[in-house]
Amino acid sequence: MITKIKTKRREKQTPGLKEIAAEPEAILASLGDHIMAVVVVDKNGGITRVNKGFETITGWQKKAILGKLLVKVLPREDENRNRVPFKKRILSKILTGKILTTPSRPVEKMPVFYYIRKNKSRFPAASVISPVVFNNKTVGAVEVFYDITREKELEQTRQDFLSLASHQLRTPLSGTKWLIETMQRKMLGPVTERQKEYLDQIYDLNERMIKLVFDMLHVLQFESGTIMVKKETVSITDLYKELITVMEPVAKSKGIILRNVLKNHKTVVVETNAMMLRSILECFVSNAITYSKSGQEVILDMKEESTAFTFFVKDLGIGIPKEEQKRIFERFYRGSNAKRIKPDGTGLGLYIASMLAEKIGAEVLLESEEGKGSTFYLRVPKKMVDKNL
Ligand code: ADP
Repeated sequence: MITKIKTKRREKQTPGLKEIAAEPEAILASLGDHIMAVVVVDKNGGITRVNKGFETITGWQKKAILGKLLVKVLPREDENRNRVPFKKRILSKILTGKILTTPSRPVEKMPVFYYIRKNKSRFPAASVISPVVFNNKTVGAVEVFYDITREKELEQTRQDFLSLASHQLRTPLSGTKWLIETMQRKMLGPVTERQKEYLDQIYDLNERMIKLVFDMLHVLQFESGTIMVKKETVSITDLYKELITVMEPVAKSKGIILRNVLKNHKTVVVETNAMMLRSILECFVSNAITYSKSGQEVILDMKEESTAFTFFVKDLGIGIPKEEQKRIFERFYRGSNAKRIKPDGTGLGLYIASMLAEKIGAEVLLESEEGKGSTFYLRVPKKMVDKNL
């Protein structure tokens, strides 16, 4: 009696060969539950295994599709709803060894594509495909994907909010600016010295608000990746001249001398996005003016190497404390010495500049010493590497 009980217990604790083989199958079937689809194919692209998520998301039952070609069971369409031919699908590139895995990029930067369900309806998906390698040979592939309909809806809501906010916030601020200017120009009658002082202050506060709204909208737009980057031929010689013309009045009002070293230089052209390049350099020049003292010089110059141009703006102003330099491109970060001389900055200018630089495949660099000055560099490769361009 006692022996029998012991035997039974042992049988229960040690799984048999069948159970050992079935376990990975069971794990795969439940992996990702009904949210994440997992499908394994052999080297010809025939389906060998799917999880429950695959069945739920695509509407196909496992037994109806085992052995069938995945590309036939699950047709793929690109962003413009065109069917992606078999050869162009990442799966076939992986099975033929042309690429090793889905190009790695954050989910929000993955190209949008659609899968077609059994009932012919479509859904946007995010997917990662990797080869199954055995004895150094690709014997198949495994794909993990999920339905991103909800994420797409949220993205749309974000876009709608952005365009609403940009109109709704900017219009009243521009209106206020116009009204203050009308009073400042004494178009509504005489203005006393004290009233003028107040009007000037209201004007400055309104200008700060306009800049803040503008910066925040820019940040939201760039972060959502909705800005199209158009490549064009930009003359740096002209761009520097333009920058000097735009920034000179502000510099003069602070007693700062802008020096364009490129003035008599041969014409330099670069293939990039003009608006983005201008915004980055404008941010550098504007900061150099803000954080310099009256009588100091701000220099605009450039260096040329075989593979890149480096544009730079050098000042002899307050500089940036060494321990703070690595945080200076973070959103809202402001240097401790900068806060003392300009309490109302946003800390968004350099963050936007570094995002723009990334968009055009360029790099932002800094050299600075507290109390001695700073140089901000923009290194633009001659051959653009950014695939957005
Ligand atoms: P803001 O100027 O509104 O603070 P930015 O993002 O343009 O925002 O700059 C972030 C911080 O970087 C500034 O607060 C300042 O501490 C530092 N900084 C930027 N440019 C300079 C400069 N030319 N000289 C000294 N500090 C600078």
